Amino acid sequence: MKSNYDILVIGGGPAGALAAKTAAEAGNSVCIIEKRPAIGTPVRCAEGIGKELLKEYIKPDPRWISAEIERARLIAPNGTSVSLEQDRAGNEVGYVLDRKVFDRELVWQAAEAGADVVVKTRAIAPIMENGAVRGAKVLSAGMPADIRAEVVLAADGTEAQFARWAGLDTTVPLREMMSCAQYLMTDIDIDAGSTDFYLGNEIAPEGYLWVFPKGDRTANVGIGITGRKSRDGSRAKDYLDRFVAKNFPDGKTIEAIAGGVPVCRPLACTVADGLMVIGDAARVVDPITGGGIGNAMYTGRLAAQVASRCIERGNCSKEALMPYDTEWRASRMGTILERNYKVKEYFITLDDAKLNTLADSIASISLKEFSVSALIKELIKRNPKMLLELKALR
Ligand code: FAD
Repeated sequence: MKSNYDILVIGGGPAGALAAKTAAEAGNSVCIIEKRPAIGTPVRCAEGIGKELLKEYIKPDPRWISAEIERARLIAPNGTSVSLEQDRAGNEVGYVLDRKVFDRELVWQAAEAGADVVVKTRAIAPIMENGAVRGAKVLSAGMPADIRAEVVLAADGTEAQFARWAGLDTTVPLREMMSCAQYLMTDIDIDAGSTDFYLGNEIAPEGYLWVFPKGDRTANVGIGITGRKSRDGSRAKDYLDRFVAKNFPDGKTIEAIAGGVPVCRPLACTVADGLMVIGDAARVVDPITGGGIGNAMYTGRLAAQVASRCIERGNCSKEALMPYDTEWRASRMGTILERNYKVKEYFITLDDAKLNTLADSIASISLKEFSVSALIKELIKRNPKMLLELKALR
């Protein structure tokens, strides 16, 4: 690890890895630091991603794909199961990844492109000069050090602190922080080609419970509930344990994780002098699905492209870095985040009876394209009043 780089990336998840790779390929000196002793563990993710989305960033490889998905099922509170299929053969629905291997592959590619990778190294404060970020103070294997950089990319995930230390408002309201628990379970009866989503306030208040297959008889079984409903006796883990006891009483849990997913709007501003915020740290998780891998990679790559141009021109001020913020907001991702935020706010007002009615209205449908957008369009088509209710939301 040197003490001076063009770009310092904080965090070795998908956002940081794509940023480091892109920046190194553009000819910058790049360092990516990760506080954990190993990239990719522990996995705090259900590991689902759309095939088309993934292919925009990396060629799929069986080494880090656990399962290919053919359909999704929504299970309403009354047990009605809505099977969502894509209406053409050879469909492109999704993968369940093996993120322990996937995250390592992404960071490996960044290293191959020339980035330095340093694990067991935690950013503890920004280096600030005249109000601008000029690098980070770190603890590397317990030893303090300074790493200076023209631009710092904060890719430190949900529990991100770096942007806040540098003066950005990163607060997530409690009700918009999903509290999650997940078991990797084996020896369970599942449909290995289907991702299953269980809805309802008894099952997962203001959230959902998922079963994402990782191969035959093995799946990520997890849940996200709103932070404001999480209390003793009714925490995410309690809901999950009740579901598992009922549905998979003989299953074996071989890994248990907990984590948070922010389902708020993105940060009001994702740049400052010498600083760009990417991935979960920028709160660009889809508010309906909680999916953030694709958006992390998108913002990581875009930020690195903009930073590279700014370094070349010798100007890394907030104003110069702003095209990153403007571009992602105007992008398809930005538009979907804003729309899905409103739809999420609508969904959390629905009681179980209304959820059952919506599920009944789409009892078995094929979608032209398999996506949340296509599903919402179908729901609105069959429940026109929903559009008015959605429009009432700001
Ligand atoms: P992360 O992957 O969180 O990486 C951030 C990295 O920064 C971490 O490795 C962390 O150790 C490191 N770090 C933090 N602070 C510091 C510091 N101070 N110094 C150095 N390093 C630091 N998304 C999907 O698309 N599909 C899913 O199925 C899905 N399921 C999920 C299920 C659960 C239970 C949870 C919690 C999340 C899920 N997500 C899912 C979200 C997805 O995991 C994230 O959106 C994605 O990992 C974001 O990538 P990132 O690089 O922004 O952050």
